[in-house]
Amino acid sequence: ATPTSIMVGTGRAAQLGILFRQGQALQALKDVKVIAVDKTGTLTEGQPQLTDFVVTATQHDASVLALVAAVEQQSEHPIAQAIVQDAEQRGLSIPSIAEFQSITGMGVQAKVEGQLVQIGADRFMDSLGISTAQFTEQAQQLGEQGKSPMYAAIDGQLAVMMAVSDPIKSSSKAAIDHLHKQGLKVAMITGDNRHTAEAIAKQLGIDHVVAQVLPEAKVEAVQQLQQQYGQVAYVGDGINDAPALAAADVGIAIGTGTDIAMDAADVVLMSGHLTGVINALALSKATLRNIS
Ligand code: ADP
Ligand code: MG
Repeated sequence: ATPTSIMVGTGRAAQLGILFRQGQALQALKDVKVIAVDKTGTLTEGQPQLTDFVVTATQHDASVLALVAAVEQQSEHPIAQAIVQDAEQRGLSIPSIAEFQSITGMGVQAKVEGQLVQIGADRFMDSLGISTAQFTEQAQQLGEQGKSPMYAAIDGQLAVMMAVSDPIKSSSKAAIDHLHKQGLKVAMITGDNRHTAEAIAKQLGIDHVVAQVLPEAKVEAVQQLQQQYGQVAYVGDGINDAPALAAADVGIAIGTGTDIAMDAADVVLMSGHLTGVINALALSKATLRNIS
């Protein structure tokens, strides 16, 4: 491609709200075989609601929620916002905390009123040696409904199983259908629960699901897709997507996401919808057709 045609193409893209941070990406896009997509905030709205809160026999409902919300107030994860919002709507007074820690891909913890409160995925509880067996069936059912189950423990004792629900963006299904019509494969890569990921993938007709992965493992998942199918574009919005955005042949960040994701990407979509990927692909093909 000539520098001029690339300039024209990237200029046209900018009018459509697609920022090519690398002119090269315009060329690379047309050879992509798989679109790999992060779930939370990319396929879904990224604004989950707390839907379930099931305390163990030894706990009192309201007090547990206040403790959990106190820790989550320090977290930037969308799950955290759902929990804090719910506690506030119930008019709970949220205690102050100390020694907050965020464990990437696992969960968060802090001291609240002298108690250690640990919140996160089942693998976080596993890593702490806290059994979640009493909720296995219930959590699986919630996952099959597309909800994300997680847990909180107080001083090393399991206290609650909860779930959040994050609606799928109305534009996601049509965008995926369109990508399929162009002969592309669509993969989902997520840190979320396997049952939840599969339920959402099924609703959207996604071909390939990689779930329960830590951010570094998102890179391995991208590399595996490259081996299996060829060139990969990765679409994501979060801090935890930055390594995968950098590892993909084309990294595409959702402009409504975090700055770290945008810095790691070759392309930024201002719209916040997967529809932008389709426009970017079309532009890539049109630009390279004009010059060949
Ligand atoms: P993703 O954004 O793809 O779901 P993350 O790596 O951000 O992946 O999180 C993976 C999982 O870790 C979440 O699905 C959740 O179970 C747990 N987790 C992470 N942060 C929190 C938090 N602040 N509160 C509760 N759970 C969390
Ligand atoms: Mg995300």
